[in-house]
Amino acid sequence: MTSRSLGIVFALAGFSGAAIAAEPEFSADRIRAHVSFLADDLLEGREAGTRGHGIAASYIASQFTLLGVRPAGQNGGYFFTVDLLESSLTGPAPTLTVTTGRGTQTLKHRGNALVRGSIAAGAVNLSAPLVFVGFGMTDAALGYDDYKGLDVRGKIAVALYGSPKGIDSEVGAHLQHEQFRAAAEHGAVAMIYVLTRASAQAFPWQQLLDVQSDETTTWVQRDGTPFDPSHGLKAAAIVDSTAAEFLFSGAPKPLARLLDEADQAGGRPQGFELRGTAKINVATKVRRFSSPDVVGVIEGSDPKLKSEYVVLMGHADHIGIKKDGTGDRINNGALDNAAGTATLIEVARALAVASERPRRSVLIVANTAEEKGLLGAESFASAPTVPIDRMVAAIDLDMPMLLYDFTDVVAYGATHSTLKDVFEKTASAMGITLSPDPMPEQAVFVRSDHYTMVKQGVPAVMLATGMANGGDKAWATYLSSHYHRPSDDLSLPIVWNAGAKFAEFNYRVVRALADADGRPQWYAKDYFGDLFAPKAAKASR
Ligand SMILES: [Zn+2]
Repeated sequence: MTSRSLGIVFALAGFSGAAIAAEPEFSADRIRAHVSFLADDLLEGREAGTRGHGIAASYIASQFTLLGVRPAGQNGGYFFTVDLLESSLTGPAPTLTVTTGRGTQTLKHRGNALVRGSIAAGAVNLSAPLVFVGFGMTDAALGYDDYKGLDVRGKIAVALYGSPKGIDSEVGAHLQHEQFRAAAEHGAVAMIYVLTRASAQAFPWQQLLDVQSDETTTWVQRDGTPFDPSHGLKAAAIVDSTAAEFLFSGAPKPLARLLDEADQAGGRPQGFELRGTAKINVATKVRRFSSPDVVGVIEGSDPKLKSEYVVLMGHADHIGIKKDGTGDRINNGALDNAAGTATLIEVARALAVASERPRRSVLIVANTAEEKGLLGAESFASAPTVPIDRMVAAIDLDMPMLLYDFTDVVAYGATHSTLKDVFEKTASAMGITLSPDPMPEQAVFVRSDHYTMVKQGVPAVMLATGMANGGDKAWATYLSSHYHRPSDDLSLPIVWNAGAKFAEFNYRVVRALADADGRPQWYAKDYFGDLFAPKAAKASR
């Protein structure tokens, strides 16, 4: 280019900068292209640790290179290695043998009980007295101490599976997650779950057996030790209602009364010693493997703010190939979550081509092993490649329902922080609405990758399309017929324009967060903000 033409361009830019600084466009075709590749049968369902997921990760890294998104993984590359450990059953089928005043019953694994060993390899043969611990929850903020007055040291804690009725569902799900930790901290050696009436209704026994696999996978910490999701408990089991009845034989209070109590709003049955013992026999073997998160960064333009990051993430892995059955066994995961991954790439593209770069940097993370328990995200959040306190907000894209032209979005968890305002304003600027959580009982806030950021104190949400304009029907059909099944593939009537619109919405939210003077804040007196970011400045509601 000659200096003259440069001069002309310069003059034009000065004259009508707004016209030249065109906003990025979002393309349905590009979304379709990414989803078509990622959900192809050749990728075999993208299970973490398999070749199929490895190809997906390489594809994403390659797209980042094409777009000029800089590597932000380990060792100057795009990959962040997540070391994983899978514990699976070995040897004879596990058993749970219960002895009470009424005699002895041996419950078989996958009969009236589901039995789990620890994440360490080896055989567990333990026998111990039983103590009922109610919901087995301890929480200073709520004043819960279900272990008060109970001695569970060296014993098996018998806890209700679920959370107290009427408690905020997200807080309840969080506390349910912490049940093992509470039991272990009080010295219990194992845990047996008994279903409440509500949980028995939500998870019919056969369905529970179907969805629970015999493998437990965890992530390996930087020091080489696997994170123990059971916090040192040696075994755990969940029993059906007949077995539960037997467990409570001769108890100071009959099980039916305890279940009645738990069925009342706020009901938290008190614990007591049971009149029996249980023996758990289970053997496990372990396998170590690894799988990469893919991490890229679009550097911010503001000399000061560019050291802060808005995090946009989504999981690229899925559940792989179905073990049994005939016909199509490849779980392609077109919507779960090739669609979210495609959105990540399209938003990264928009940020990279925008005439004005965002003021803060934007970190794009395609997580692995979400389907195995948020493991890629957990591993990254525990030792991220940029300082955690520089991450101002995180948005997770998981399973955007692109089967209709959405007119509303749901930001799960947005009510806990000022992120809500940003989503509300951005939505209204695009002529769509931000709807409240349509299924609070599902506690989505604590069930996807963004929660690993919340636990590190970062305000975060999971963003999905809403229930308006046919969304309710699309969601219901998808969840009942296609979720985690081979039919979540390109035969679904995917509305690609909705994908482009979803990418644009995400881009605008990321821009708003990246360009704002201040960073988002947890609301004052919010349960999660107080728990995970006690020292951070809070906003008033
Ligand atoms: Zn999934």
